[in-house]
Amino acid sequence: MQASTEHEPLILPNNGEKLLLHSCCAPCAGDIMEKLVESDIDYTIFFYNPNIHPEKEYLIRKEENIRFAKKLGVPFIDADYDRDNWFDRTKGLEEVPERGLRCTVCFDMRFERTALYAHEHGFPVISSTLGISRWKNMTQINSCGERAAARYPKLLYWTYNWRKKGGSARMIELSKREEFYQQEYCGCVYSLRDTNRWRLQNDRKRIKLGEMFYCNKCPKEKKSV
Ligand code: SF4
Repeated sequence: MQASTEHEPLILPNNGEKLLLHSCCAPCAGDIMEKLVESDIDYTIFFYNPNIHPEKEYLIRKEENIRFAKKLGVPFIDADYDRDNWFDRTKGLEEVPERGLRCTVCFDMRFERTALYAHEHGFPVISSTLGISRWKNMTQINSCGERAAARYPKLLYWTYNWRKKGGSARMIELSKREEFYQQEYCGCVYSLRDTNRWRLQNDRKRIKLGEMFYCNKCPKEKKSV
């Protein structure tokens, strides 16, 4: 079924005039970014993802997001890639499965930096593209976002459900239309390891970084380069 391309206008909470949107990648951000533009919401993308490993993958994901932000004319903040801090914070959680405590620590770290930037630069509202993925636990993401925003008295984390009203389906349609890079694991070295373990157990090949892209014209969902 084709997803609707019509968006109901969004209204920023907190009487906010502008939004700082933490973005994890272009496929998750794409539909949200278009929705916000169509709703005339003033927003800036904040790309802070020191979890992504290795650096080659990080740069590909970031460049895809920059490309789409330029296309829409949306400001893009390219924050630090302080992966040593990420490894420090997740030490001891290497074997925790996805959606567990390691992910809480990972979201906390990314949202804390987003909230700090918002506080220092006058953004009254923050949110994140992470919640649009059905692989993620939205309650976990929202509680991390709210915890980060609560550090500053006038800051709000917007818990809008980006999946609703066809958001998840449009995310795929838009990714095909834009032929975005298609990452095949969540991002960290442990998710890469666990996805490859699963693949080998299911007679599938290991992930090859930088090879898969969504494709508009291919019979299957994706093409490789
Ligand atoms: S699986 Fe994803 S959310 Fe969890 S720690 Fe790794 S990169 Fe972060």
